[in-house]
Amino acid sequence: MSHHKVIVIGSGPAGLTSAIYTARANLAPLVIEGEPSSTSDQPGGQLMLTTEVENFPGFPEGIMGPELMQRMREQAVRFGAEFLTEKVTKVDFSSRPFQVWVREHCHTAESVIVSTGAQSLMLGLEAEGRLLGHGLSTCATCDGFFFRGQEIAVVGGGDSAIEEATFLTKFATKVSLLVRRDELRASKIMQERAFNNERIEIVWNTVVDDLVGTDKLEGAVVRNVKTGEVRTLDVTGLFVAIGHRPNTDLFKDVLDMEDNGYLITRPGSSYTNVDGVFACGDVQDHTYRQAITAAGSGCMAAIDCERWLEAQGTH
Ligand code: NDP
Repeated sequence: MSHHKVIVIGSGPAGLTSAIYTARANLAPLVIEGEPSSTSDQPGGQLMLTTEVENFPGFPEGIMGPELMQRMREQAVRFGAEFLTEKVTKVDFSSRPFQVWVREHCHTAESVIVSTGAQSLMLGLEAEGRLLGHGLSTCATCDGFFFRGQEIAVVGGGDSAIEEATFLTKFATKVSLLVRRDELRASKIMQERAFNNERIEIVWNTVVDDLVGTDKLEGAVVRNVKTGEVRTLDVTGLFVAIGHRPNTDLFKDVLDMEDNGYLITRPGSSYTNVDGVFACGDVQDHTYRQAITAAGSGCMAAIDCERWLEAQGTH
């Protein structure tokens, strides 16, 4: 067992930023960063699954997602953050000190920062692992720019899919919106936006069965679920926009969350419903979901946490 002033759970931009700030406040945080073999709990978070990041301020030439995360981690280590490359298996926040379990090992802390992130739902195709970041993407804001003048496709029929498809028409010459049913789930106003955009072609009743390409995406094998017709769409980009899932299974019945599983924080802060437990990054944000906003909220959590510890007289 080890005792800490702060335990940070998760090591994406939010967790690492909170680690940098709490480390520089002399709180010697323990960061339980996740397990490398896992796709949902990998150290570094979702940026480990991307290639080039061009929109993180301070990197005018761009930086690879994994390198950006490595640099954030080094910065946290430099100021005294300790890392445990494991996955949290259980938490008990019912009394203080809080308990954070990694299998049979219990770590205790005066405060906890939760930054376990979210994951994009994927189609479940074997080729996805190989092509993610190489033509296959889950974030139009991040990767749209790479598809200037090209023909691409978006999978999904919800608000996210239409928002992404609409945004992508700024770059792509044509965006095929692949919808698995004969109607959209998206709100009426978003539907109108898709219908009125001449660069968006809605392909109804269509699912993706396979992806073409070894090192980079060269096409998508699609099937019409009504007629059974199978064809290959010659697209260089495919955006999967079928929803996200926050990584909050650990916190069921422990922290307040919305129906869709996102943690609830007090507006304008990182406070959860449990005093001394803070949340930041995508685990509590289904709106912005950017590395920079996650980092910003990690900073908020660290400051909230430091002030809270100070008020408890434990800092
Ligand atoms: P949703 O769950 O609303 O929509 C998911 C879409 O993906 C549905 O059309 C669904 O089809 C489809 N889908 C799911 N699985 C598959 C699959 N395996 N293959 C093909 N298609 C699939 O998720 P969103 O991310 O779009 O939205 C989440 C929430 O965020 C919603 O409440 C939405 O309103 C909100 N939001 C609001 C925005 C705005 O107002 N500007 C922007 C973005 C999101 P089916 O309909 O058949 O289930």
